[in-house]
Amino acid sequence: RHGRPKYLEIRDLSVSFDGFLAVDNVNLDVIQGDLRFLIGPNGAGKTTVIDAITGLVPATGSVNHTGTEILGRKVHQIAKLGVGRTFQTASVFENLSVLQNLDIAAGSGRGPLQMLRRRKSVEPAVGEALEIIGLEGAADKKAGILAHGQKQWLEIGMLLVQNSDVLLLDEPIAGMSQDERAETGALLRRIAASRITLVIEHDMDFVREFATSVSVLAAGKVLSEGSVAQVQADPKVQEVYLGT
Ligand code: ADP
Repeated sequence: RHGRPKYLEIRDLSVSFDGFLAVDNVNLDVIQGDLRFLIGPNGAGKTTVIDAITGLVPATGSVNHTGTEILGRKVHQIAKLGVGRTFQTASVFENLSVLQNLDIAAGSGRGPLQMLRRRKSVEPAVGEALEIIGLEGAADKKAGILAHGQKQWLEIGMLLVQNSDVLLLDEPIAGMSQDERAETGALLRRIAASRITLVIEHDMDFVREFATSVSVLAAGKVLSEGSVAQVQADPKVQEVYLGT
């Protein structure tokens, strides 16, 4: 593929809740191919940054997705422009199969009833997503019986079939086993290669292993950014993390 890499350029992003600045003039760039982690103590404003990008909370500033301003648009418009997010708890249709969940997300105009009658999907994007999330072998399993980690991967797959080229993930490894964490790290790498990926994460071992870059948020502001080694060596960050 040719062309310039896709990017997300966040400028002077601020979110105020009744005069309290939860996000305070944040500047953040994420480029395609980067696996960027957003870290920082509880209450730093990490989730609010993602809420602002996806249109869930009103914000000021600018969020430019590869030449298109997305701030100020409605939630569904932002999703249509290729910005996808997950929440800490995966939301999948438990009574439908993995394939049916992906079909619904792909939204090919078929209703759930029609979908229940067809066993095999015709969408190439669905097959591709199944492969990326490593659930080919579980395509016909009900989502409700999947392991915790598999449900999270399915939710990521549902964003992939929607052609999301920006993925905003909120603590994707929460509650996962060690094996599932390693699988998820590999999955994030595959995804980030061709997309814009920003991940909120608390687990510093995971961040150290998989981040290509890190932004540290504290009290609504970007305290530090760079490689994991760079931010770890930053005295301002050490202060916030009390010496880790
Ligand atoms: P983090 O994700 O880094 O833990 P959050 O973005 O959830 O932090 O929260 C940042 C700050 O904003 C916190 O002080 C939180 O209490 C506050 N906050 C978040 N959402 C709201 C809201 N809807 N109304 C009022 N305050 C909020």
